[in-house]
Amino acid sequence: MRQIVLASKNIGKIAEFERLLTQYAADIKVLGLAEFPNMPEVAEVGTTLSENALLKAKAISSFTKLPALADDSGIFIDALNGDPGIYSARWSGYEGVDAKKRDLLNISKVLDQLKDVAVDKRGAQFKTVVAFYKPNSDGSNLEKEEYGVLAGQIITKPQGSSGFGYDPIFMPNNFTQTLAELSPAAKDEISHRGIALRAIAPFLRDHL
Ligand code: IMP
Repeated sequence: MRQIVLASKNIGKIAEFERLLTQYAADIKVLGLAEFPNMPEVAEVGTTLSENALLKAKAISSFTKLPALADDSGIFIDALNGDPGIYSARWSGYEGVDAKKRDLLNISKVLDQLKDVAVDKRGAQFKTVVAFYKPNSDGSNLEKEEYGVLAGQIITKPQGSSGFGYDPIFMPNNFTQTLAELSPAAKDEISHRGIALRAIAPFLRDHL
């Protein structure tokens, strides 16, 4: 089996990626960060999604000595000049570990910032960069990136309870439900992360 480490401890995310990769290559085993408990936290000090994704992939690969794949995502809101962007996770300033609380605070901050913005000016995009990093035996390395974008609108009140993050206030273009009202499978089909992962999968099949 060929192996790749995914920069996540989330069992659901790892299983989903493994299912997706299996459609391209049956001989790839996806490992998660839970299998490397001593791996230090990687500080996301980059200024773009791309820099952050690559620095995570590199750090994980150099720690595990295996090829690694990392993703970095964010929501870019037109009326906020692209904010929160790479700062999406901690936009409200909450530093605690309660993910539900963090999501609620982030959503209320965005809704408050947009309270005077007209319905037709509330465009936003979720963006993901996935970065692959593989050390070669001759000391060189292989790097590859792919992107995914999902365009939509920020609605005025949260709707739905599945998903995470800004899902309850994001309605994809041409949809009448928010991401939090779609099933996980329906979200994966259109999501920024799904698009980026499907884009990089053939490269992994050929270069792992
Ligand atoms: P990450 O890089 O995937 O951890 O995403 C950073 C932050 O962007 C998350 O903490 C969420 O607040 C937001 N985000 C990224 N992807 C999504 C999504 O699919 N739905 C909702 N929020 C998201």
